[in-house]
Amino acid sequence: MGIASVRFGRYAVPLARPVSDAKVATGRQRPLAQLDVLTCEIATADGLEGLGFSYTTRAGTPAQFAHAREVGELLLGEDPSGIGRIYDRLSWAGASVGRSGVATQALAAIDVALWDLKAKRAGLPLAKLLGAYRDSVRVYNTSGGYLQAPIEEVKEKATRSLAGGIGGIKIKVGQPSMGEDLRRLTAVREHLGDGVPLMVDANQQWDRAGALRFGRAVEDLGLVWIEEPLDAYDAEGHAQLAAALDTPIATGEMLTGVPDLVRLIDLRAVDFLQPDVPRVGGITPYLKVAALADHAHLQVAPHFVMEIHVHLAAAYPRDSWVEHIEWLSPLFEERLEIAGGRMAVPDRPGLGLTLAGRARDWRLDEVEFRADGR
Ligand SMILES: [Mg+2]
Repeated sequence: MGIASVRFGRYAVPLARPVSDAKVATGRQRPLAQLDVLTCEIATADGLEGLGFSYTTRAGTPAQFAHAREVGELLLGEDPSGIGRIYDRLSWAGASVGRSGVATQALAAIDVALWDLKAKRAGLPLAKLLGAYRDSVRVYNTSGGYLQAPIEEVKEKATRSLAGGIGGIKIKVGQPSMGEDLRRLTAVREHLGDGVPLMVDANQQWDRAGALRFGRAVEDLGLVWIEEPLDAYDAEGHAQLAAALDTPIATGEMLTGVPDLVRLIDLRAVDFLQPDVPRVGGITPYLKVAALADHAHLQVAPHFVMEIHVHLAAAYPRDSWVEHIEWLSPLFEERLEIAGGRMAVPDRPGLGLTLAGRARDWRLDEVEFRADGR
């Protein structure tokens, strides 16, 4: 049954409180106050619907929406289960703007909607369609550990997260003062005790020497990983750091094309690879990266977007982590279940998501293509 209609929406979803990571502390970006989202809703003539989405922070979603508007009509009449064929067709339509970045992130919303639709047609959660290894995934919390939060608040939120079933805590580092980073981190480790999984995220703010110095200073803290210690594209630097330190290295969230992530794998630059479905162009390219990461015996801990990544992490051979950030939650009716340090894979078909009625309040733009021309 062919695709009968495609609808794209552009949304600005406010955050409860603006947040700051090291990119703000070092003056490179302003605090993040909203999340910009591109949605894609695909319907077939027999009444099935797929929902997908992509996102950006600070800039980019208007361009994604414009690209989706240009290529969206090509979907009409296509068999939605032929995801590879459709992805290829849309990629070639936008070949002039390349295979990474804004154009492929627009395709991500379409690709996710097609996978959602396919799993719904099979009557399976997406994780099971892809071949699930488990029904839940370890989950850690990031939202309590931003740099604008005083340390007492970070500790209090960590305690609350753990009481609510979260399995690990991540805090931001990478401030201009490394001493301040170390003071905050040590305080959190002392507060949590040795048994609680703890990660840090420097959001690319160190040079190679600074990252090595920090890494050596925290070897005894038993961190699960040090995230984005260096510039996202410094694959060689990450490889040197990973070889020099016992503490595992994680990165990959900023990379917007498959070859950039494959380079991290090839150079053994990470212990935990952190791809992001919307940023890398959808589930189809993500699966290529995940297969290569598995072949290299790496952990995969996808970045943000827990609503999609809980399925993909459940379908990855090694039990790793998903990141709990609730920024997208207001867009959807459903809530993910967390208990005992793990996030349950929803047992509803597809991603198990429907757009919330109140999402309309945040919609800035919309376009629809219909096979019947109406
Ligand atoms: Mg990060």
